[in-house]
Amino acid sequence: MTRYVVGHQQPDTDSITAALAYARLKQAEGVDAVPARAGEINPESQFVLDRWDAEAPTRLEDAAGETLLLVDHNEHSQTVAGAREATIVGVVDHHRIGDVQTGEPIHFRTEPVGSTATILTRLYDDAGVEIDSRTAGLLLSGLLSDTVVLRSPTTTEQDRTVVQRLAGIADVDPEAYGTELLQQKSKLGEKAPREMVLADFKEFEFGSSSVGVGQIETVDPSAVLDQRDAVLAAMDEITGERGYDALVLLVTDLLDEDSTALVAGDSGTVAAALDTAFTDREAFLPGVMSRKKQVVPQLEAAFS
Ligand code: MN
Ligand code: MN
Repeated sequence: MTRYVVGHQQPDTDSITAALAYARLKQAEGVDAVPARAGEINPESQFVLDRWDAEAPTRLEDAAGETLLLVDHNEHSQTVAGAREATIVGVVDHHRIGDVQTGEPIHFRTEPVGSTATILTRLYDDAGVEIDSRTAGLLLSGLLSDTVVLRSPTTTEQDRTVVQRLAGIADVDPEAYGTELLQQKSKLGEKAPREMVLADFKEFEFGSSSVGVGQIETVDPSAVLDQRDAVLAAMDEITGERGYDALVLLVTDLLDEDSTALVAGDSGTVAAALDTAFTDREAFLPGVMSRKKQVVPQLEAAFS
């Protein structure tokens, strides 16, 4: 029985590299595992695949009837299409526990660390499977991308240790390679406003509320904020189409390590959640870099 290893929709680099690395580990254990993806490859991930000479995971259009190992997520608002009609046999993740339910006992491994790559490195060690230089490069990329080169508040001591180890195997300088990755991330800001909002986008069900949270990580926030009226118009359009109670877009400055939030929908609840005030639908959030840690839990508390 083929098992697809698949990350979340609008895959980021951690989802792509986790699918590749976890599928390889499962194959080494004799499992028929295929790396898959739930969406298009972003420019940063394409750079990583090229850099480490790795093939892109297979695009899984419809997972109904398939057997899945989920990486880098565990809630249905983020799963590949058809996942509700699939059999989920494992989860490796570093987010809050969502709503995925199974009929059978499964392997469910989550840890509050900076990336799925960090956990996978441990799983290789636990299984006694050697990490080759390509896999090390891929895992390093997922880790550095998710932690913004160890700058994000989600970064743990374990992430720092694992970076040194993977960088050694892959034979790269993690700071220099991380800087290259950050520049690739910034290319997201060259897209049309609607694409920018949706490029790294997650939706959440908080009680009866539905909230979308996008994030643009860039070394040049002005490239986005100079187009704020067009970006806000795109946010209004998406909010209307999808019936969100609110949509928040974080424009995160990777160098200054802070974010500017734009809001559509119920800005009052968002403002209260983030302990800020919006002026012209924009608020500055000092020190905020992590959607997962500094924004989503606060929104969940306010909306549910
Ligand atoms: Mn992710
Ligand atoms: Mn991740």
